[in-house]
Amino acid sequence: MERSRFIASCSFGKDSMATVLLAKAHGEPLDEAVYCEVMFDKDISGEVPEHRDFIYETAIPALERMGVKVIVLRSLKTYVELFTGRVTRGQRKGMVRSFPLCGKCYVQRDCKVRPIERYRKTLPSNTVPYVGIAQDEQDRLLRLKGGSQISLLEKYKFTEKDAWEFCRKAGLLSPVYAFTDRGGCWFCPNAKLPELRHLYDHHPDLWARMLELQAIPGKATEKFNRTQRFSDIDAIFRQEDQESFREAA
Ligand code: SF4
Repeated sequence: MERSRFIASCSFGKDSMATVLLAKAHGEPLDEAVYCEVMFDKDISGEVPEHRDFIYETAIPALERMGVKVIVLRSLKTYVELFTGRVTRGQRKGMVRSFPLCGKCYVQRDCKVRPIERYRKTLPSNTVPYVGIAQDEQDRLLRLKGGSQISLLEKYKFTEKDAWEFCRKAGLLSPVYAFTDRGGCWFCPNAKLPELRHLYDHHPDLWARMLELQAIPGKATEKFNRTQRFSDIDAIFRQEDQESFREAA
């Protein structure tokens, strides 16, 4: 019988990166790491730029040096295409689809889940996926029970903090942890204020692209997240800038 194939889903965040490092450190079988990159448009990644640079310039070369094959998946669809597409059903039919809803993200569905599912269908049925779920994420671990997925972080009793430290010591901790504790697209409706402030301060070109999208007429929703338009957040940051300018003057 053909031996099982072992793959690690890898976002290059601390938990999935620590999973790969644990597999190598303990001689666990690992055939490949699979990463799915969401794209903002055809040319711009949905990854926070610092994380994208880390992935391509540091993490993937390091994994390849360890002998881990890295598969990069991308959907043909991009955030901008989905955003500017039209709603096809319901009361808002014909309107511009616009921002994804918190907890019901069409980017997650079309640009992440679908390419990964398509790839999984090409794998042998005895493929075993490793998932980066830490020992202190009991709710998520409970949902794994009975399934075919394995958490090496649970097996080796790694908490999220241990995973963070393990990556840091290996020189493979993403720089995004300097300003956020979560991974995700830079246009995510779940982004916290410090992440958005980082984008505003360090990536004004990307910020401007979001304001352009906010200005499109006929959208199904004006809200970027549960309560605010992107332009509301922009106004808050401009106000903060003016206040600190006045205080410094
Ligand atoms: S990080 Fe946010 S925007 Fe990106 S796929 Fe996940 S929920 Fe959607």
